[in-house]
Amino acid sequence: MPTSPSNDTAARTATPDTAAAPPAGDLEVAGVRITHPDRVVDPGRDLRKIDLVRYGESVADLLLKHLKGRPVSLVRAPEGLDGESFFQKHAGRGAIPGLTLLDPALDAPHPPLIAVESVQAVIGALQMGAIEFHPWGAKANSLDRPDRLVLDLDPDPDLHWNHVIEAAELVRQLLDQLGLRGFLKTSGGHGLHIVLPLRRCHSWDGVARFARMAAETLARRHPEVFVARAGAAQRVGRIFVDHGRNHRGATTVAAWSPRARLGLPVSVPLAWDELVTLPGPAPWTIATIGDLLAERREHDPWSLFETERQALGGASRLLVTR
Ligand code: ATP
Ligand code: MN
Repeated sequence: MPTSPSNDTAARTATPDTAAAPPAGDLEVAGVRITHPDRVVDPGRDLRKIDLVRYGESVADLLLKHLKGRPVSLVRAPEGLDGESFFQKHAGRGAIPGLTLLDPALDAPHPPLIAVESVQAVIGALQMGAIEFHPWGAKANSLDRPDRLVLDLDPDPDLHWNHVIEAAELVRQLLDQLGLRGFLKTSGGHGLHIVLPLRRCHSWDGVARFARMAAETLARRHPEVFVARAGAAQRVGRIFVDHGRNHRGATTVAAWSPRARLGLPVSVPLAWDELVTLPGPAPWTIATIGDLLAERREHDPWSLFETERQALGGASRLLVTR
């Protein structure tokens, strides 16, 4: 005779041997108990919490490369895309399994900043309703010396995608002229991100100033394409080069993070020569990225990202004199 769920529960409570087994429907991934695995996150695509957890498990090693050692903010949407979501920068609001709490002195008087350092923490965060992982551009052991600069290309939503591709090429041209290497990724939202790994020899002010100068140079050289100042009115028909991701405490979604948007798209690292065939900013979702993920494990377009360490001094002088 099949055991009914209630009998099952009663048996578990009574029998010490099975007391640790997850309740019916729950399961364990990377040592984290996943509750409500069937909870719907994106009703439109019928994507569930378990789909996010399985994606997280499959990508954790790649995602962690972009998170380890850094404070991380989380976008949490415990009730799914249709519910309330919040941006979590500090410890609090329910403990997350595996999460690291950083030295409170780093961001006093706030609660400790948090870090995601292990597969368990990735899965723990997903278990607690996190969808997006947003690292700082600096490591906790040297928080005043940023090691990444981000240029965020935010197109007017009505702009044809081909123009965004052309614009990103122009950014690459500028970086080439400055002797800098930028790494390209989809945001998984509406635009593209270009990330420059830095030597840890600049202040936040120095990095922010350089990013602003680069954005202003693009807007000056190609006024029909770029704008360097925020504001919907200014951006009409153009692309805002958001350079404001480069101050202390600013964050950008990590490569390989899912996005809390319809379809649960992923921010994907790209080679520059893939740009021309990119059909849009979010071609891959947690449900469709399997093949690409396997391919990226064979050939990583960001293989130099870890070792590239650039100083901005020479490029700054070039920017000023042009
Ligand atoms: P898109 O391509 O659609 O512009 P994006 O990732 O570039 O995607 P957003 O998702 O709009 O842009 O994120 C904006 C930035 O602000 C991110 O870098 C994120 O880390 C940060 N952010 C998002 N939500 C909050 C919040 N509630 N408080 C503080 N910072 C936030
Ligand atoms: Mn953006």
